[in-house]
Amino acid sequence: MDLSAQLDAIETEATAAIAAAASEQDARALHAKYKSELATAMKAMGKLPPGERPAMGQRANKAKDALEKAFEGYLGGLREAAEAADLARVVDVTLPARPAPRGHLHLLTQVRLEAVQIFSELGFVVADGPQIETDWHTFEALAIPRDHPARDMQDTFYLSDEIVLRTHTSPVQVRTMLTQAPPIRIVAPGHVYRRDDDPTHSPMFTQIEGLAVDEGISFADLKGVLIHFVSRFFQKDLTVRLRPSYFPFVEPGAEVDMQCSFCGGSGCRLCKGTGWVEIGGAGVVDPDVFAHCKIDSEKYTGFAFGMGLERMAMLRHGVNDIKFYYEGDVRFLEQF
Ligand SMILES: [Zn+2]
Repeated sequence: MDLSAQLDAIETEATAAIAAAASEQDARALHAKYKSELATAMKAMGKLPPGERPAMGQRANKAKDALEKAFEGYLGGLREAAEAADLARVVDVTLPARPAPRGHLHLLTQVRLEAVQIFSELGFVVADGPQIETDWHTFEALAIPRDHPARDMQDTFYLSDEIVLRTHTSPVQVRTMLTQAPPIRIVAPGHVYRRDDDPTHSPMFTQIEGLAVDEGISFADLKGVLIHFVSRFFQKDLTVRLRPSYFPFVEPGAEVDMQCSFCGGSGCRLCKGTGWVEIGGAGVVDPDVFAHCKIDSEKYTGFAFGMGLERMAMLRHGVNDIKFYYEGDVRFLEQF
């Protein structure tokens, strides 16, 4: 068979075979097969006399074009069929949508809302204040002047000589007393900042602080509020113990210990065998603070307390590293 007849045969066979292909995969295989047959036939062209080569080259290109056209035609047919099927499909717009995955409140938010709820049942309302505070609201008004050694108890981020990141929520007490006459019952939850960093301390953490100012408020009222809070929060009857301690803005002041919620007070690893765990500080408002806030300390008395919400959540859920709260790891967050 001469080359021309061979190219004719390949062209005829290829176009017929591809048009009849059973699937896209078959069509691709046939396309590849005839392409390689054409390539083989073309190699023979080198043996032709030079005068015949241009005409034969044209013949070969015609066969090549026919092969590509047949293949493209087959693919085009498939596309059209798919589009037609797509258009013919009936969409039921009344079907209910697939549910989107929903998140939930962060553990610390849950704990904060719960704490606020418990205190609100006792008549406390939420008060708020800036996290970037003046030195005066954060320290001076709370009877902690510049040279006072108590400033060493709180490693402070200073933004300037007069401006700090608040180290406790207590400036909210000051702001409230300056703008509101007694009786006052507030809780102030919010972020505070200290230069601490270890498994139980973070440079940013969350406190909730309470303040009650009225005529005839006593230490007994403070203890009653704290006992009510821990019992409701841990959902079992727990008591608290107040250990004398020093905070400049209260007199007397106390560390607040709670009966261990894990062992009930008999002693376990969490409470290091003592039956008690420390949860915060509290005390009777120092008359000096009242003087800064223009409240008559002859007429009014008050108590204040503060605790860390991270710590409360740690105690209730057995979280052993404060960093878990802030890393945003879904495996941790999903557990609560
Ligand atoms: Zn214990």
